[in-house]
Amino acid sequence: ARAEGPARYRFHTDAMALAIRERVDMESLLRHAIERNQFALQYQPRVELASGAVLGVEALVRWRHPVLGLVPPARFIPLAEETGLIDDIDMWVLDEACTRASAWRAQGLPPLRVSVNLSARQFQQAGLAQRVQAALEKSGLPPGCLEIEITESTVMRDTAEAASVLRSLKALGVALSIDDFGTGYSSLSYLKRFPIDVLKIDRSFISDVTVDANDAAITRAIIALAHTLNLEAVAEGVETAEQVAFLRENGCDEIQGYYFSPPVWPEQIEELLDRGAGT
Ligand code: C2E
Ligand code: CA
Ligand code: CA
Ligand code: CA
Repeated sequence: ARAEGPARYRFHTDAMALAIRERVDMESLLRHAIERNQFALQYQPRVELASGAVLGVEALVRWRHPVLGLVPPARFIPLAEETGLIDDIDMWVLDEACTRASAWRAQGLPPLRVSVNLSARQFQQAGLAQRVQAALEKSGLPPGCLEIEITESTVMRDTAEAASVLRSLKALGVALSIDDFGTGYSSLSYLKRFPIDVLKIDRSFISDVTVDANDAAITRAIIALAHTLNLEAVAEGVETAEQVAFLRENGCDEIQGYYFSPPVWPEQIEELLDRGAGT
């Protein structure tokens, strides 16, 4: 066994060296992605169950690399967060989404609220609210047409700081939602203290909601909780008519998911808006 030591050790360092190399390569590619204009946004509609109307869209970032192809966020957001590159990416997304939503308004499309995902890091920087205000002013988008999505772990990281940032965002008039709701470990007390408007029920509860009694119970409980606190409940990852029926019966306000539409390029949103009544 002793003789295997050095060989295994060498194997280890080779594998590590490779992993580090890949990471460094990926990092330098990512570093240049903004200046090379390689990011783009897709938008996924959110549909009101009562009316079938598309009330909003979520902006989801895509990295279009000439060699790697279309890189999904799961493959670069974690690295972007570790390296801090997410700051520039999120601010690019914020500006781009506000500009697009403002252009849709100018084209006379039905009013849409655009939601943008911000990573936890943004809430630890001074001046987030000023940056958001600048994006709104630059684009001419009314504040009520912007929603900011944050996860439970973001607000729980430093609750006092988060509460103050959220209050200053709220003061601008933007809407705030808790993303992936139910997957955090958090106490629910923050919901009372923070100026939240929307709970987005995580896809992990929705996928089996019609077959798993626990998921059904949790989903009902989240909808009830949202309504008790005067918040809207939005179900994520809705894929089937059976899920839609369950959510409708249980009073969920809005749905988002492949059932209605996957995320699409901005040009396709206009077309989608015409079939909003189809749900
Ligand atoms: P998320 O915010 O929870 O976004 C929803 C994800 O679910 C999206 O994945 C969307 O394409 C996917 N999805 C929507 N409907 C369905 C469905 O019916 N079934 C299934 N299986 N999936 C569905 P996407 O676009 O790959 O984004 C993954 C995550 O990356 C997002 O999760 C979000 O956490 C993060 N992300 C995306 N854009 C940004 C961004 O601009 N900034 C930051 N910080 N994070 C982002
Ligand atoms: Ca989201
Ligand atoms: Ca989510
Ligand atoms: Ca997520």
